[in-house]
Amino acid sequence: AVQIRHLSMSYGDLEVLKGIDLDIEKGTVTCIIGPSGSGKSTLLRCINRLVEPKRGDIQLDGESILSMKPESLRRRVGMVFQHFNLFPDHTALENVMLSLTKIKKMPRNEARRIAESRLAEVGLAGRKDHRPAGLSGGQQQRVAIARALAMDPEVILFDEVTSALDPELVKGVLDLMANLGRQGMTMAVVTHEMGFARRVADQVVFMDEGRVVEAGTPQQIFDSPQSERLKRFLAEVL
Ligand code: ATP
Ligand code: MG
Repeated sequence: AVQIRHLSMSYGDLEVLKGIDLDIEKGTVTCIIGPSGSGKSTLLRCINRLVEPKRGDIQLDGESILSMKPESLRRRVGMVFQHFNLFPDHTALENVMLSLTKIKKMPRNEARRIAESRLAEVGLAGRKDHRPAGLSGGQQQRVAIARALAMDPEVILFDEVTSALDPELVKGVLDLMANLGRQGMTMAVVTHEMGFARRVADQVVFMDEGRVVEAGTPQQIFDSPQSERLKRFLAEVL
């Protein structure tokens, strides 16, 4: 579903992505791991054009994102962030409805119906009228996931979505993501949760210094790492 070719990206003089080639197949979960500063977030940000690549291309089902209208890309690529990014003055329900009414121009009653069913799917039917401040971190993150799902995107990008959660809330969000993966959602997940990557990923991608150093199945990456850099990284995090 997503093809990344020769992708390079710089912040000023700092080259952060140095020729990334990566395929994310439809209906699969790709986990992206690697040390801090290796370019994982920047890679996700290129896929939904929060930042512009310097060279290379990203295609969604054969269509370059560089030639897509921003609204079209917003519909087709969902993103969930570490810090939820919910609107504090809106309820959970309104947060999920907003992108439907604004980006998809959906009538409010239809948007409400979809938002309610997505919130129910993430286990929040009973909390839909609460504002973010009245929800736990885990519940806020579920709202953010429901908001991404409501757009019915072709792929959802997750950037360390459990890193800001209290430890006891992490498992619930990871279980929800694992379920989405089982249901066939195409997902790219930047995570420090190696257990999740091993259990849920179809493909694990190890990045270092702006490059994909190794990519493979969880067994290949975790049980028989090839490069010294990945071996060193695993020794530190496992
Ligand atoms: P982490 O695990 O800490 O989240 P990461 O792998 O997601 O790291 P990125 O956030 O993609 O790494 O950052 C890659 C490099 O780009 C780092 O050296 C970072 O300092 C730099 N960088 C990131 N965002 C910006 C920015 N807005 N302006 C300038 N440099 C940036
Ligand atoms: Mg990051």
